Amino acid sequence: MLAGLMQDRPLLLPTVIEHAAAWHGDVGIVSREADGGTRRVSYAEAATRARRLASALARLGIRAGDRVGALGWSRHRYVELFYGVGGLGAVLHTANPRLFAAQIADTVNHAGDRLLFVDPDCLEIAEAIRDRLTGVERYVLLTDRAGLPPTHLPDVICYEDLLAGGDADYAWPALDERSAASLCYTSGTTGPPKGVLYSHRASILQAMAVCGGDGFGIGGGDTILPVAPLFHCNGWSSPFTAPMTGAGLVLPGRAVDAASLCALIAAERVTLSFGVPTVWLDLLAHLDRTGGRLDSLRRVGCGGSAPPRALIERLARDHGVELVHAWGMTETTAACTFGRPDADETGAAAVAARISQGRAVFGCAFRVTDDAGRPLPRDGRSVGHIGVRGPWITAGYYRDDSGPAVDADGYLATGDVGTIDARGRMRITDRAKDVIKSGGEWISSIALENLAAGVAGVAEAAVVGVPHPKWQERPLLLLVPAAGAAVDPDAVRRHLAARVAKWWLPDDILVVDDLPRTATGKVLKTALRARYRDRFDAAGGRD
Ligand code: ADP
Repeated sequence: MLAGLMQDRPLLLPTVIEHAAAWHGDVGIVSREADGGTRRVSYAEAATRARRLASALARLGIRAGDRVGALGWSRHRYVELFYGVGGLGAVLHTANPRLFAAQIADTVNHAGDRLLFVDPDCLEIAEAIRDRLTGVERYVLLTDRAGLPPTHLPDVICYEDLLAGGDADYAWPALDERSAASLCYTSGTTGPPKGVLYSHRASILQAMAVCGGDGFGIGGGDTILPVAPLFHCNGWSSPFTAPMTGAGLVLPGRAVDAASLCALIAAERVTLSFGVPTVWLDLLAHLDRTGGRLDSLRRVGCGGSAPPRALIERLARDHGVELVHAWGMTETTAACTFGRPDADETGAAAVAARISQGRAVFGCAFRVTDDAGRPLPRDGRSVGHIGVRGPWITAGYYRDDSGPAVDADGYLATGDVGTIDARGRMRITDRAKDVIKSGGEWISSIALENLAAGVAGVAEAAVVGVPHPKWQERPLLLLVPAAGAAVDPDAVRRHLAARVAKWWLPDDILVVDDLPRTATGKVLKTALRARYRDRFDAAGGRD
């Protein structure tokens, strides 16, 4: 081999915040704090604070490879944790405060966290699970002295005191770029949470990839507001993409309702925001009610589940906002594919491209295979299992002995089911566990939901497969009406009947007030399936 002569500089997270400090030092983070106040921290300050944190943690005895947990909302100190903990060579476990207390305790124990950072408004959770935690030695409250609430947690440290004792000139250690930097558990939509261990290298490569024009297209003129929480998929990498490009980072704290978000977007002139479809549906409904405008907002990144067509169209038509649709999962660091139209696609074709999960950004590859693992053609029709591979896709789960997560060709089984068309666009038709298997054929719950959500007055639709004595499963459709609207199930049935095969039509359509959700805002289909399990049983079932 003739070795290249280029410098061998490892891809390490601290290089990102140091870059921002050096080249975009005045830009920074705006953060809604637990006390309701707004705090501004420049990237130059954040880098110094991250150095102080790393050195203070080292003095506390935290070593490379140790896990350190965080239980908090999206705020500036959380961003410092990514850099301070990871930069030291330790691993930041981004615990999910929206899980059940027992599940939070299980993940903290499974991760083996030695230290737990706790936001003041997550203190109750920490106190409730404290007796179950097996490895946590100290608690650090993410606040200053004045904000320190009374607590019966033992050995509590105040974060700002910890920083004050740290070294502002701390020299970041030369780590292997493949070492772990953060640990995130899946949110448990389809099964118990599993740990995904992100490396420095993977986090940086993924962040660089999604900044590109075929991704979210993030640049220095942007101000980014991740509604997706920092504890889930590292806030869709926003703590890295924003400082990397010199974009501002606006963190909403705990208040992610539509009214608070609108106010923050307007006050901070946010240009780009990330979240799951329900966030944007709520935001639109709020703007409809109030007549509000979002002048600064140019794009929203939308993922986690498929956006309804009406959402894409209304954001563009009524607010001039482009919805950039992305697909990804905890296992893929964050987004990997983007549904963007090509130059020759306009009007309905452009919307269709945006509804698709789209093409992979460079670095990722995906394919669709049949039940035997054979690749299927890119014809837009052949439905199969989606596999994905790349340098920021997990190869396995943390402390899990259920065998390899990837197949012989290195593809991770995503659990998603879908097609790839001739242009290379992926379309997810279901999650393997949500697909409705009726009489040996598959019915796409997502296709039915999208159609139902297009009917006037329908705010949201969910379709689940319910056991059926004759057909194994039949679809049940649940509709949530928009505020003040009345929904007629028969009208929705007629709308569907004109658009899908007869055997796809739901056996029953129910109007409900709301839908159960996972910790990350997705419809919790496991709960719906359990709730309506007996709906089509031998006595009551239709055929
Ligand atoms: P959980 O697996 O607990 O829901 P994840 O955030 O890891 O938590 O979810 C990843 C899954 O979310 C994907 O496997 C896919 O089923 C779904 N998903 C993510 N993005 C999209 C999207 N753009 N369209 C449809 N489904 C999506």
